[in-house]
Amino acid sequence: GAYIQAIENANDALNAYIVTTPEKALEMAKASDARLASGNAGALEGIPLGIKDLFGTEGIHTQAASHILDGFKPHYESTVTANLWADGAVMLGKLNMDEFAMGSSNETSYYGPVKNPWRAKGSNADLVPGGSSGGSAAAVAARLCAGATATDTGGSIRQPAAFTGTVGIKPTYGRCSRWGIVAFASSLDQAGPIARDVRDAAILLKSMASVDAKDTTSVDIAVPDYESAIGKPLAGLKIGIPKEYRVDGMPEEIEKLWQQGIAWLKDAGASIVDISLPHTKYALPAYYIVAPAEASSNLARYDGVRYGLRVPGKDIVDMYERTRATGFGEEVKRRIMIGTYVLSAGYYDAYYLQAQKVRNLIKKDFENVFHAGVDAILTPATPSAAFGIADQDMAADPVKMYLNDIFTVTVNMAGLPGIAVPAGLDARGLPLGLQLIGRPFDEGTLFQTAYVIE
Ligand code: GLN
Repeated sequence: GAYIQAIENANDALNAYIVTTPEKALEMAKASDARLASGNAGALEGIPLGIKDLFGTEGIHTQAASHILDGFKPHYESTVTANLWADGAVMLGKLNMDEFAMGSSNETSYYGPVKNPWRAKGSNADLVPGGSSGGSAAAVAARLCAGATATDTGGSIRQPAAFTGTVGIKPTYGRCSRWGIVAFASSLDQAGPIARDVRDAAILLKSMASVDAKDTTSVDIAVPDYESAIGKPLAGLKIGIPKEYRVDGMPEEIEKLWQQGIAWLKDAGASIVDISLPHTKYALPAYYIVAPAEASSNLARYDGVRYGLRVPGKDIVDMYERTRATGFGEEVKRRIMIGTYVLSAGYYDAYYLQAQKVRNLIKKDFENVFHAGVDAILTPATPSAAFGIADQDMAADPVKMYLNDIFTVTVNMAGLPGIAVPAGLDARGLPLGLQLIGRPFDEGTLFQTAYVIE
């Protein structure tokens, strides 16, 4: 009840929810109360959550914040959300995001930008919440839900978490089922939670994760009780500090934050080692080949026949063209063009194949470091705090926007788990985050170390 009221009061200003489902929430809460009364309670009984619009929710609008999915209501439920409901969680509505999860500022949504609930000291200017899970991060930060689902293909959980002072974890590729989630780049996409603190993130991920026969890339490996990792001393843990993440032009305050994080982990008993991940500098360009390539293939299904929007034409090809021209936004079209270009005959070897080789080298860099005994890697989460809505530099040059993902995309390329945790404020009083990267399926160590930082 209190959350439904809070959404009514604040959502016009923040634009975090695209669709609210108050009747559904009350119905689910009632069922939850009944289970609690009968002593038959799940782990998340009555916890009200916001759901990123990328997750298919049965009978409830699922539009990936795109015009082309206008009015689409799936007849299925994504495995991740089904897991949450099975544990007793309650759905408050669908959260805004960048269109098809393509973006780092939540400005590519057909439903308009989300506003970051934070403001810089002495300024009234609206800031972005980051993207693509900007609605999830803003809703958690503004207390318009107790926690939210999100997805991360190249940073979309971690970067918005860093921009809003919340905790976001992208688990290992294969930890959560991708079934029923609108696909962006299938070899990179993973679901995960955005939460108020490390403990909530641990509890939510435990519920979201599962092996699933409907997603053959989900992995059959026990999901540990992540919460029990919290509060354990760090003695015996080795934390790597990669020199390649000290990028040119990195603001002084990010460097200071990083040093502070190192000091905290040391105080908690961890040992710190300098490491090298030599192929880091190729990660961003390789990501912006692999992700659009897969996206151009995944988005081929939006043809005006099967889902959402249809713009009539004089024949079927004309209908396809009109539907896609009208239905997709500018950034999505840019990705489809890049993707079809790098996959086309004659360019495939030069771009796509090359990017896949780079991806392998990035993966090997991490394997070498973990093989040498490093348990987790500490880096900044983003190269800056939240920037302004309609930033002129970013609007003029999409590559500037892409540079925001410089610390996050390597993790997706290597399929590793990564967590963003709030670590301090910049000079303007805006939240900054640090990132911890872990071994495959070792999210527990990330919760353990992140808890020391938050
Ligand atoms: N900002 C990145 C992109 O636009 C990552 C998006 C994501 O993780 N979904 O591709």
